[in-house]
Amino acid sequence: MAQRSVSRYVAVVVGTRPEIIKLAQVVRLLGSAGRLLHTCQHEDEELSGVFLAAAGLRQAKILSGVCGAPRHVQFARMIEQLGEIFRSDPPAAVIVQGDTNTASAAAQAASYAGVPLIHVEAGLRSYDRAMPEEINRCMVGVLADVHCAPTAAAVANLRAEGVPAAKIELTGNTIVEATLSTLPSQSDAWAIAAELSADPGCYVLATIHRPENTDDPGRLETILAELSKLGLPVLLPMHPRLRQAVARHRLTAALDRLRPIAAVDHRTFLALARLARLLVSDSGGVQEECTVLKRPLIVIRNSSERPEAIEAGFAHLVRPGHMIGDLGRELIADPLLDERLARIPCPFGDGRASGRIASCALAFWSPDGRANRTGPARQPADATSARLLSVYLGVRIVVGETNARHGAVGEAGVRSSRL
Ligand code: UDP
Repeated sequence: MAQRSVSRYVAVVVGTRPEIIKLAQVVRLLGSAGRLLHTCQHEDEELSGVFLAAAGLRQAKILSGVCGAPRHVQFARMIEQLGEIFRSDPPAAVIVQGDTNTASAAAQAASYAGVPLIHVEAGLRSYDRAMPEEINRCMVGVLADVHCAPTAAAVANLRAEGVPAAKIELTGNTIVEATLSTLPSQSDAWAIAAELSADPGCYVLATIHRPENTDDPGRLETILAELSKLGLPVLLPMHPRLRQAVARHRLTAALDRLRPIAAVDHRTFLALARLARLLVSDSGGVQEECTVLKRPLIVIRNSSERPEAIEAGFAHLVRPGHMIGDLGRELIADPLLDERLARIPCPFGDGRASGRIASCALAFWSPDGRANRTGPARQPADATSARLLSVYLGVRIVVGETNARHGAVGEAGVRSSRL
């Protein structure tokens, strides 16, 4: 008799720089139970290759025809190819991260194939429907079976939308461990800054790449002009979208007053961010990293889905205009700022989110390939599965209450601690 096909893997789908950075540790923890699928939404070396290599994740299965295609075409191609993979070799569960086209397409493909979906960095909301990312994260939120929320605010957003508490895990954000494990030592960071002729504490590090800032020539020109008035050299690692926008809008001259450099690897970026006097960015991830690195950040956006960094006092949300220069100069001149920020705890968790997420995924998986689809890891069916998880993760699993009832990551229902 033909054997029933069995699923022996958890699919981890990535497509862009931040997804690779944030899911690398989850993939490592899953070990042979995990399988990396790369949609190649970012496929170039500077946004993908260097990050896969740094994380030791080169063996990903890759999709074709996605990078650079219009958004609707990207979706069609990703859903078709992922759908075929999930149909022909069904995973025990699919993990997606954040709010990218990749996350949304993979969530839909998993849903159509009837495969359980785990959403990492769930529950963020800007309530700004003009942002493609907001549509993506809402779409994934509708389809997810397990929502791994990074903060209590994200849990509250999900609960307000009617997501049952039993489907939510308060895990923290994996960027905390990604940052802590990748940040070079102080002396290596100084060497990295020296290579780029950046004087520690005496420069600004800026990144701009969101369509809301790059698509409108007037808006982009204002941002570049304000950056040049901060009174310090401004290092500007160039995301390909910024590079193209500057050329398209004929703003090359505006870069003459800044220090544009090629986009850098994560280790280099964190070293430069740690030693910068001020960060200016429209990135989501940088809003989280600044709270680990204890650096001040000006966020140039209409809205933010990460109020935690702002409420804690690390980040300041401003729209393009004179406020960038005014606030930037004020922060640079504040002699007590560093001391103040150093005392504020990181609001994105305790650096153990990846372990919690991996244990959620492994609750759907069993080594003999019989997918266990009964529920997430905080309700392991028996002592054997709990033992199995602990062996796999090298962590101690303690079964507790539903995370969403607690306010802090440290009280999460699955408590994981290094043995
Ligand atoms: N980053 C990097 N090199 C750079 C610029 C950014 O490694 O030259 C990292 C940064 O540290 C953060 C991530 O890229 O972890 C953020 O990615 P991005 O801003 O593209 O995406 P978002 O977080 O806005 O979705």
